[in-house]
Amino acid sequence: MQFDAELLLLALAPVFLACIGWEAWHVRRVRPDAAIYSWRDTLCNASLALMQQAADKLAWFAIIPVYAWFYDHYRIHTWQRGWISFVVLFVAQDALYYVFHRCSHRVRWLWAAHVVHHSSERLNFSTAFRQSLMYPLAGMWVFWIPLAVLGFPPTQIVAIVLINLGFQFFVHTQMIGRLGWLESVFNTPSMHRVHHARNDRYIDRNYAGVLSIWDRLFGTYVDEDPHDVPVYGITEPLHSHNPLTATFHEWRSMARDVASASGWRNRCRALFAPPAWATAYHASLAASAGTPHDTPDAPYDHGIEAPLHRRAGSQTDVSSNTSNAFETPRSS
Ligand SMILES: [Zn+2]
Ligand SMILES: [Zn+2]
Repeated sequence: MQFDAELLLLALAPVFLACIGWEAWHVRRVRPDAAIYSWRDTLCNASLALMQQAADKLAWFAIIPVYAWFYDHYRIHTWQRGWISFVVLFVAQDALYYVFHRCSHRVRWLWAAHVVHHSSERLNFSTAFRQSLMYPLAGMWVFWIPLAVLGFPPTQIVAIVLINLGFQFFVHTQMIGRLGWLESVFNTPSMHRVHHARNDRYIDRNYAGVLSIWDRLFGTYVDEDPHDVPVYGITEPLHSHNPLTATFHEWRSMARDVASASGWRNRCRALFAPPAWATAYHASLAASAGTPHDTPDAPYDHGIEAPLHRRAGSQTDVSSNTSNAFETPRSS
């Protein structure tokens, strides 16, 4: 009997639910005052997971033939089944995941899908369920095409993508501290708490999927500092537990910005600049309209003079734009 890789995450659902149940129970005992779980947040997360699973299942029908085409026509090697090919596939996909994840925080088109994962202000195992049904449209699947060119058939690509995602469930918790030497090799709860935090020093850090080596190699690693407790969420808060709002709010905002921005350069920026461009653009619109901008996170609200390297949702890198980046918006 052949295991259907596309059902891997559904097959693991009982394990995920057991972990959530244990964590919610444990939190009530050891940190009763900590606002780690709420029913509305957890239900929203679960709804997002079901929506994304349904969309993914449909999307694979369209995407697998694309991988098959690259595999049939452009593969550079044919692997024998075994541990060596598994390790190569695992490491290659994890490296590509790092690239995908980093791009997802630096290109607004990709962030529009990925923001779903970050828009909760809580962090617990159920946060891992926050995924977007828009990933196929955003183009996440494009990042795995090199695996087909490396010589891995589509079923193995789908399987390794889901194994990577399955592993990441277990790093979404505040109940596990630092894990010694494992921190230098693997993505861990401590590393990933940093990734979900919007504190100034944690933004745009720790993109790892399974292996933390990529962050260390490419300069995006930062340790969790016990004196700088992570504050979770995005810097333009969502204020909603509606899974549809969570899924589409950034797409809607992006469409509005494309429509209102002046000139094709700014329209391109509205789509593809680092998402922080949008935050500064919104602030400039609010300033010209004389209304307060909804960024209550004062420590991160540095206005349009913010430095270049900012995570999605934080203030922008207008230094990379022309001086008239926001001039004369047509509407708001
Ligand atoms: Zn992320
Ligand atoms: Zn996460």
